[in-house]
Amino acid sequence: MSGNPTKNSVRGIVQPNLSDYEKTYAEFSWEWVRRELDGLPGNNGLNIAYEAVDRHAKGPRRDQLAIRWLGKDGAVRDFTYGDLKVQTNRFANVLKSLGAEKGERVFVLAGRIPELYIAALGTLKTLSVFCPLFSAFGPEPVFQRLVRGNAKILVTTRRQYEQKVVSLRERLPELQHILLSDVDDDVDACVLSLPKLMAKASDEFTIPPTNEEDMAVVHFTSGTTGMPKGAIHVHKAILTHYMTAKYALDLHPEDIYWCTADPGWVTGTSYGIFAPLAHGVSSIIDEADFDAERWYRILEREKVTVWYTAPTAIRRLMRLDIKPREQYDLSHLRFVASVGEPLNPEAVMWGRRVLDLTIHDNWWQTETGGIMIANYASMEVRPGSMGRPVPGIEAAIVRRSDENTVEVVTQPDVEGDLALRPGWPSMFRGYLHDEERYQKCFKSGWYVSGDLAERDVDGYFWFIGRADDIIKTAGHMVGPFEVESALLEHPAVAEVGVIGKPDPVIGELVKAFVSLKPGIQGTEALRMELLGFGRTKLGSAVAPKEIEFMANLPKTRSGKIMRRLLKAHELGLPEGDLSTLETTESGDKKE
Ligand code: ATP
Ligand code: MG
Repeated sequence: MSGNPTKNSVRGIVQPNLSDYEKTYAEFSWEWVRRELDGLPGNNGLNIAYEAVDRHAKGPRRDQLAIRWLGKDGAVRDFTYGDLKVQTNRFANVLKSLGAEKGERVFVLAGRIPELYIAALGTLKTLSVFCPLFSAFGPEPVFQRLVRGNAKILVTTRRQYEQKVVSLRERLPELQHILLSDVDDDVDACVLSLPKLMAKASDEFTIPPTNEEDMAVVHFTSGTTGMPKGAIHVHKAILTHYMTAKYALDLHPEDIYWCTADPGWVTGTSYGIFAPLAHGVSSIIDEADFDAERWYRILEREKVTVWYTAPTAIRRLMRLDIKPREQYDLSHLRFVASVGEPLNPEAVMWGRRVLDLTIHDNWWQTETGGIMIANYASMEVRPGSMGRPVPGIEAAIVRRSDENTVEVVTQPDVEGDLALRPGWPSMFRGYLHDEERYQKCFKSGWYVSGDLAERDVDGYFWFIGRADDIIKTAGHMVGPFEVESALLEHPAVAEVGVIGKPDPVIGELVKAFVSLKPGIQGTEALRMELLGFGRTKLGSAVAPKEIEFMANLPKTRSGKIMRRLLKAHELGLPEGDLSTLETTESGDKKE
């Protein structure tokens, strides 16, 4: 297959990095990727922070923009690769002065402020372990994660500290140092001013020899299906980050790249920090939360060329009556990718119609550490498909034979568990303090992801749903994604979450919770119309039998629809762990 150069009216034609998928996939070796990275001087191993920062800072990229930080209030701070090296060296020296040791977790609880990024990379330089916490967590989720991660050092802001951490200190005897990013003086012997420590710290730091299997990051999963799990990642993961950013995000050295994810979730770390910096591109970081007009303005003003975002944000943009191509100059934008949830075909069509760009869906998990299945710049996109496995990754559909064994399904278009052959560099190396659960993920030599999918005859993977969300109705297996995508094609519909509701006759019946576009009333007539619309699109076996209007669907803070809460709501059952549920500004749960 030959590569289709991507249109780019301002920057000229850009040849995709992956011009021939089949050939690259067939010939690929991780050795190639390793050769594109530098490794620590003196053959001292592989360290993520060195690849992301220091190797650029000592070469021609020293004065190039690494990060442009856009503050909520309009402030702008630029960091070159040289600046980042100095700042992360200082942070590494701060940690050393506090006695931080190899393998110890350094937690950061903060919004998208520059100190978060500096702390992440500085921590990796010392061989301590970076552990991000989403800034909107309340005290209890913060406590749970700090305890599970045996936190000794926490970096946070004064506000976060006062609102959440003060009340927890007695229950966290292991927590020795709290560094506040925005106070000039120490609060007490344990609660210290980070700026003061940084000012005293040396600019020089030599990264110690790093084994590629040394622990680098612990990431808690999104908690969509239950209690979040702490996935352990190692320095070798940078090979996956680098390779996938090259092939699946098509990063070129001159790109201006914007990943909208928060580093509290794995996308915001793997692709918001490590991957773009490893490529030496200029990365935009916006401190503010989603705001359609602000986002379009950023794309325009910063001349973003590659944009990595999520279906939830795309659906929010789709709801609004903004005509981006008429109202904004987005001519620099050449590649858009999405992850986190299924990208409905309607969203891909919207991208083509409204942005004049195809949105490239890709699939991965906290556990996989990096993109595993993707749509590529050079390859035909089939709307609704997650694409094909990235080079170096063997993916398959497997069927569970019994509790501990699976068999590979060789025929196309058969539904089963999406599985990956273990051994890729960014594969998680464990769940923190839960070896049994980790072992259970592996069966018959495969990592079984917990998602159900199909593979078509050309090797494209199609998401069906999470194994836990599959609906068994009158002898059929129905994936919520298919039903949600069909209803989303109706012009009144903004978002849909579909569950199976227990039914004495047919096992489960398909029930859809629908939120409508602004200004549209959820009348009985509209409900009937949507039921009919579903039947026409899907046939009566799969179409929803019940539809309930709901102003806001429950979502994780990373924007995933929490079907388990829709089900709990339907059945009047306990809601389970709510630590990652999105809340309104006032801190109340969304109704
Ligand atoms: P938890 O494991 O705590 O329930 P989570 O699975 O949502 O939370 P993440 O690791 O952040 O935590 O998300 C990975 C999951 O997100 C995947 O297993 C899949 O269900 C979903 N997902 C990610 N990308 C896609 C995609 N492109 N299409 C469909 N689903 C996706
Ligand atoms: Mg999961």
